[in-house]
Amino acid sequence: NDLASLMDVSVNEVISACLSLGMFVSINQRLDAEAITIIADEFGFEVEFTKPDEEFEVEEIADTAEDLQERAPIVTIMGHVDHGKTSLLDFIRRSKVTADEAGGITQHIGAYDVTTADGHKIAFLDTPGHEAFTAMRARGAKITDVAIIVIAADDSIMPQTKEAINHAQVAGVPMIFAINKIDKPNANPNKIKEELANMNLLVEEWGGKYQSQDISAKTGLGVDDLLEKVLLEAEILELKANYNKKAVGTVIEASLDKGRGYVTTVMVQAGTLNIGDIMLAGPHYGRVKAMTDHKGKKLTKAGPSTPVQVLGLAGAPQAGDTFKVYDSEREAREIANSREQILREQSMRTKKHITLDEIGRRLAIGSFKELNIIIKGDVDGSVEALSDSLLKLSKEEVSVSIIHKGVGQISESDVLLASASDAIILGFNVRPSTNAKKLAEQEEIEIRHYSIIYDAINQIKDAIEGMLEPEF
Ligand code: GDP
Repeated sequence: NDLASLMDVSVNEVISACLSLGMFVSINQRLDAEAITIIADEFGFEVEFTKPDEEFEVEEIADTAEDLQERAPIVTIMGHVDHGKTSLLDFIRRSKVTADEAGGITQHIGAYDVTTADGHKIAFLDTPGHEAFTAMRARGAKITDVAIIVIAADDSIMPQTKEAINHAQVAGVPMIFAINKIDKPNANPNKIKEELANMNLLVEEWGGKYQSQDISAKTGLGVDDLLEKVLLEAEILELKANYNKKAVGTVIEASLDKGRGYVTTVMVQAGTLNIGDIMLAGPHYGRVKAMTDHKGKKLTKAGPSTPVQVLGLAGAPQAGDTFKVYDSEREAREIANSREQILREQSMRTKKHITLDEIGRRLAIGSFKELNIIIKGDVDGSVEALSDSLLKLSKEEVSVSIIHKGVGQISESDVLLASASDAIILGFNVRPSTNAKKLAEQEEIEIRHYSIIYDAINQIKDAIEGMLEPEF
């Protein structure tokens, strides 16, 4: 997607070029330097990798074995909706706040860390679900060491459970199954283990390799044992980092606070972040003015696997952006400026109005939040059905709104409305009038025609998931 932007060709053409070279890629996939060079060459471009970012990538080399010390695991909790992800995150957060901290107001800053009874630390990403996990991965961030897959024992393995498992497996992240809600009278953890076995995921107590733990996120039963299992997994992974270098890590979330300016939660992954450090995250840099943890406690430094809220950046980077500390402000500024310029060029190339293909591009540069749709159809029943199904596609990152719907031909006024509100028009068994068609071309409004509801839903769904297949 980025490459397509830089070359000013459509994403589909780049994806097709990749396919013809035997590379199966998605719109958000990161390509390595060699692939970029080869593909750009196909389009007659020569690639020059700019120096600042090269430095940014390369510097990460030599930690010797002596430099490395143990670090805490970073955990993401995934699973089907209502199976108890949020309850588990909340229970762990609440139960692990020590007495002297009780009463402190805990805040959701996107991540938190706890200390277990025997003094081990575990960090949790506080946005449950595989969508957040995969959105991060799509931006190249690798922060999760262990995935807890929550499955309700009074239910079954559900579609999102499968997706979560699949996403963890694709990422190569080890999983621990938390079989939840065992306090409920109708809970049947063995049934879940059997279903897992049927998916070739045999749990340890049945002789397999996957750790699982029966828990109740409501009463807390089994949660300590679950955390023990996380630590065991961490031990096997031999998670280590160099504490004594300039910090690097990943942005978890960022926002603008009226009183405090830009507030950025980062996960330090290596090195130690200190007050006064000059940090660069995505295209924004600044001097770290203050750091707090999720309990609002002030910190002066934060080592590996520590989530921390930072004040001092001059803008809001995106979740999944890497951050890094620099020696000099000049260096950070130069890189920030060059990234800013790339982003600006990309956004200038984005089309005036939205199209389905354009969605992926805007998603990638982070300027897409809402998809406005106008639906025109031949009969009221199909307009309603289509509208209902499309509304259900809304998710956290992108919401779908139907700004207008009706029966009849696509008219000039539909196109004008689309132009004013940056919408796409879906015609279900109807066509635009001649004038509407002309106006749409002039205003660059996309009109898509469908005669099967399912096709419309699928295309929109793929587009907002950033995976629109190329049209050959
Ligand atoms: P999420 O969608 O996966 O984040 O699920 P939630 O944490 O929001 O939980 C969904 C519902 O299940 C809520 O009403 C919780 O109170 C309930 N719930 C979660 N864990 C348990 C549990 O261990 N036992 C019982 N009885 N209810 C639970």
